[in-house]
Amino acid sequence: MTRIEMLTPLVEIDGDEMTRILWKDIKDILILPYVNLKTEYYDLGLPNREKTKDEVTRQSAEAIKKYGVGVKCATITPNAQRVEEYNLSCMWKSPNGTIRSMLDGTVFRSPILIKGLKVLIPTWSEPITVARHAYGDVYSGVESYVADQGKAELVLPNGEKKTIFDFKGPGIVQTMHNTDASIRSFARSCMNYALDVKKDLWFSAKDTISKVYDHRFKDIFQEIYEQEYAEKFSEAGITYFYTLIDDAVARVIKSHGGMIWACKNYDGDVMSDMIATAFGSLAMMTSVLVSPDGKYEYEAAHGTVTRHYYRFMKGEETSTNSMATIFAWTGALRKRAQMDGLSDLEAFADKLERASICTIESGLMTKDLAALYEGEVTVLNSKEFLTEIAKRLA
Ligand code: NAP
Ligand code: MG
Repeated sequence: MTRIEMLTPLVEIDGDEMTRILWKDIKDILILPYVNLKTEYYDLGLPNREKTKDEVTRQSAEAIKKYGVGVKCATITPNAQRVEEYNLSCMWKSPNGTIRSMLDGTVFRSPILIKGLKVLIPTWSEPITVARHAYGDVYSGVESYVADQGKAELVLPNGEKKTIFDFKGPGIVQTMHNTDASIRSFARSCMNYALDVKKDLWFSAKDTISKVYDHRFKDIFQEIYEQEYAEKFSEAGITYFYTLIDDAVARVIKSHGGMIWACKNYDGDVMSDMIATAFGSLAMMTSVLVSPDGKYEYEAAHGTVTRHYYRFMKGEETSTNSMATIFAWTGALRKRAQMDGLSDLEAFADKLERASICTIESGLMTKDLAALYEGEVTVLNSKEFLTEIAKRLA
């Protein structure tokens, strides 16, 4: 059989533990038999990040900037225990954090929906995508315990002072910031992505209470929408809609889904976990990082599944769900195909997704999904699941 040819390399970013095992199996079993895969490979496995003093992470982000599309395996973000386990010279930063800041990107997370898999909100028939602004607010807030009486003040660059609170007894104080530049990038990433997937874009904040801070977000989104996107949105048949965060929560719960919900940093942190749980399993959440100038990095939302890896290393059987990692590959291949005008490659990405969904809909799945499925289930191990998908793909 002749394999599908590619024009431009895909930036392939390998990772750690169980997802590294799945990574190779997905390529060998599902992709390489059909595609003459052209990738530029970066090994972000922790041993190689240590060896290269994390230079490889920065190189992989540069490569995404150069080629436009990457696919990434989950990676360990080291903590004290990992420093010991891997004998690291220092606690390397989160690779996702480094890549995100180098691309100035926004992360979009959406669930893979399967007929027969219980959704906790019965009206949600279409996926809900959460876009989280991953810069500033309380995540880089400055805060303090105030032990004494007296005024806490905010001093602005022009020398102006504002009283935060005149303390009469002990308490706490917090300040935070954001920048117009970061909010603009966030707005553009969201609007580009909405056009890309042709879905309505919602944005929510609390401008009625936060009349300067949240209002600035609302104004920047509105300004960018009107000046750069309104026409394109109407041509694509999609809408932009702003509402208060509490109203958005109420509307999302009552909706059928199908929208992109752009959230400020904290709201996105909280809401994306709520959405993931309501749709079923973390192993079914896909994630894509989109930069304001249209570079894409696809990955699974879950981590390296350490507990399964330790079992795998002891020679025990694992039943690890590879769906989100497969969809990271199909997302990246489809985007590459669209950029290079390769219709056969785009069709392959569609077929692989259909074969994967079809496998679960025939009752064949990994252990994490079994309890959520309303029907007869056969639980497969990690490799058997991939083999069943391969049969349907063939
Ligand atoms: P995790 O790898 O997402 O796993 C947490 C638990 O969720 C697993 O133990 C497993 O539960 C279940 N799970 C997650 N993905 C699954 C899958 N594909 N199939 C079946 N079950 C799945 O999170 P973690 O254990 O907190 O983190 C492990 C490592 O991943 C850490 O070193 C962290 O730094 C890293 N991490 C990386 C990324 C990324 O690169 N994007 C994201 C998050 C975390 P059971 O054990 O109950 O089966
Ligand atoms: Mg969270």
